[in-house]
Amino acid sequence: MDSQPTCAVVGAGVAGVVAAYLLQKRYQVDLWESAGRLGGHTNTFEVADGPDAGLGVDTGFIVFNGETYPLFQRFLEELKVPKQLSDMSYGYFCEQTGWGYGGHDLNTFFGQRDKIFNPDFLRFALDVARFNLTSLGRLKRGGIQGSLGEYLRPYSRTFVRHYILPLGSSIWSAPLERILDFPAQTFVRFFANHGLLRVLRRPDWYTVSGGSHRYLKAFLQGFSGQVRLNSPVRQVRRTGQGFEVEGRHYDAVVLATHADVALSQLAEPTALQKQALGRWRYLANRAVLHQDVRVLPSNSRLHASWNYRRAQGSERLPTLTYDMNRLQKLKTDQRYLVTLNPQNELNRMLGEWTYHHPQFDGSSEASQALLPQLNEDNLAFCGSYHRFGFHEDAVMSAAAAAASLGCVW
Ligand SMILES: Cc1cc2nc3c(=O)[nH]c(=O)nc-3n(C[C@H](O)[C@H](O)[C@H](O)COP(=O)(O)OP(=O)(O)OC[C@H]3O[C@@H](n4cnc5c(N)ncnc54)[C@H](O)[C@@H]3O)c2cc1C
Repeated sequence: MDSQPTCAVVGAGVAGVVAAYLLQKRYQVDLWESAGRLGGHTNTFEVADGPDAGLGVDTGFIVFNGETYPLFQRFLEELKVPKQLSDMSYGYFCEQTGWGYGGHDLNTFFGQRDKIFNPDFLRFALDVARFNLTSLGRLKRGGIQGSLGEYLRPYSRTFVRHYILPLGSSIWSAPLERILDFPAQTFVRFFANHGLLRVLRRPDWYTVSGGSHRYLKAFLQGFSGQVRLNSPVRQVRRTGQGFEVEGRHYDAVVLATHADVALSQLAEPTALQKQALGRWRYLANRAVLHQDVRVLPSNSRLHASWNYRRAQGSERLPTLTYDMNRLQKLKTDQRYLVTLNPQNELNRMLGEWTYHHPQFDGSSEASQALLPQLNEDNLAFCGSYHRFGFHEDAVMSAAAAAASLGCVW
């Protein structure tokens, strides 16, 4: 009997994990990971002791919805990992102007009661409704071009400043000052795909029951290949018969690292690889898990699952607090909050991590058209940068990478 071909999957975020899961049907897979754990942005903190010992609190990837994450949900189902309903809501508070709203319902949207008869706020509310209603139609007609800044010209400054910029910055962990450079079509299409333009029948959002590390554990249990933690791959070199990776021979390679890292790992990148991968920039976001409720607005009607706080100095990086008790419906009396890029010192910190997030602009969007052409000759690429930057995008690209190596899901 012929021995199985070998494949190195480099990078063990969700993209690499799903690629390894699919490729093991045909290949002897080695999953290389520079960190001491699997998961990349999937990173669950397990409370070590006390009454909450064993509780899993997510600090990176948290939520997915029932409509636009079909492949990720299929992965969970195949691994028999349950999901549970989340409580998704968005709240905003601007320290500079005192302006704030909660996105749960009308009660929280007008959470600052003095805004009910404020003409500026009412115009703002109308702009939100107008953006939602007209964008869907324009997207369907294919009439959206140029940057988001150009697209938003007919809207009030207040709407752009207090709605679009912080929401975009929250979703993509991007600086406020960069949001208007986003390609308008990508921005609006993402909003449409995720039900954010719908006033009614918004999709249900879920978390992985018990924390997202549950799917990593389930994957490991059934994985026939070898996991190599603490093993950074510096170079992937093509040889006559395949590839050399850190002194080992492989018949095939999947690069599931970020675009900039993948390019740096290729010993002799082609012109196409340079063009497609070289345009991506990543931004570091500091995430802190803590129990310091002072980060939330003092008006509790503005509290939500995602709490954006606009402060002096937070223009470059979003300051956003995820209320993990709400999002994961944690059964505990303790508060667990994850704050991205906190502006002030926090009390009761439990851990902190740095996550690099792809930045979307005209240049990176242009390169996305080239990405599908990269998979050839037993070399394939995957990662969330292949589409909108989220879990489903990473899984979708992993499925395409595996298919190009003969493992169709
Ligand atoms: C704070 C935060 C919250 C998020 N929340 C959500 C959410 O709720 N829902 C959602 O859909 N998306 C969310 N995302 C988006 C998230 O980035 C994607 O969903 C997805 O997890 C990215 O997966 P990936 O495999 O492409 O990249 P990563 O998860 O970043 O994986 C890349 C892996 O490559 C490894 N690596 C790097 N260099 C090397 C090397 N030289 N050799 C070997 N390995 C290497 C890294 O250590 C890492 O493990 C969030 C992102 C952040 C930052």
